[in-house]
Amino acid sequence: MSILVVGSVAFDTVETPFGAVEDALGGSAIYFSAAASYFAPVRIVAVVGEDFSKQKLDFLTKRKVDLRGLEVRKGKTFRWGGRYDYDLNSRTTLFTHLNVFENFAPAIPKEYRDSEFIFLANIAPELQMEVLQQIRSPKLVALDTMNYWIDRSLPALFETLRAVNVLIINDSEARQLAQEANLVKAAKKIMAMGPQVLIIKKGEHGALMFMSESFFWAPAYPLESIYDPTGAGDTFAGGFIGYLAKSRNLSPDNYKCALIVGSAMASFCVERFSVERLQDLTTEEIRQRFLGFWHMTHFDQNSGF
Ligand code: AMP
Repeated sequence: MSILVVGSVAFDTVETPFGAVEDALGGSAIYFSAAASYFAPVRIVAVVGEDFSKQKLDFLTKRKVDLRGLEVRKGKTFRWGGRYDYDLNSRTTLFTHLNVFENFAPAIPKEYRDSEFIFLANIAPELQMEVLQQIRSPKLVALDTMNYWIDRSLPALFETLRAVNVLIINDSEARQLAQEANLVKAAKKIMAMGPQVLIIKKGEHGALMFMSESFFWAPAYPLESIYDPTGAGDTFAGGFIGYLAKSRNLSPDNYKCALIVGSAMASFCVERFSVERLQDLTTEEIRQRFLGFWHMTHFDQNSGF
């Protein structure tokens, strides 16, 4: 039931109306594994520069995250900067310094090739496909992508989509990929491209999940203090896949629970900057937040219409 994530490790510089951080630990592989490791063992494939101290990841190794696939290359670690205004759903990218990430060619260590649950974070679709070709027999493959790849690498993205089970994207990416403004119609078009499950994230408006016969919605947890939405999407994916890997149950009902677990983990992520809040959560805190979602959405269908 081990999970493999291939993605970025970064130093993030982030400004929100509630504060700022400089060179804080970030990147899709970090947020994902910080969340998924609460549920199952995680293996990371990523690259950092010589300026990166692996001690920063002690909180992950303590939770059995395998870092043998974290390559250290000559040069600087990937750096990303972003700013949010009061509408935390939209952000401005201030800079993207790819550094060692520019020539990232993920090599999957031999001992990772039996991984069963795979998360291909947001990297070039050609590289995502190369990763998949190195995995023996995955049980579930989930993929993230973004407007940059939809603009530049559509044929490769189409090929990769045919090989994945779950696609996790945001609403604007779904509209762009399907060339369709209506999200329900867009979902149908995207599922015809390959994935059996499609999750469309809508920031503070929650996440929609489409399956072949049904759809399901998870709200975002109403929080009084939100400091930094960076990484919420990857944290969501970590909770979602972590829960599926732990339960080893890919039934539609269990996918619904996984959607709530992903949303619960994302709600912790945004409560602090960087991965601060994801470092020492307790199982009880996660369970209580999960139950909070249940209370918030449950009603007695017999007392009304
Ligand atoms: P999210 O908020 O879920 O989109 O994830 C934000 C994280 O993605 C940050 O920690 C960034 O370091 C990382 N990131 C930003 N741009 C890129 C990129 N082009 N490729 C890979 N990772 C990125």
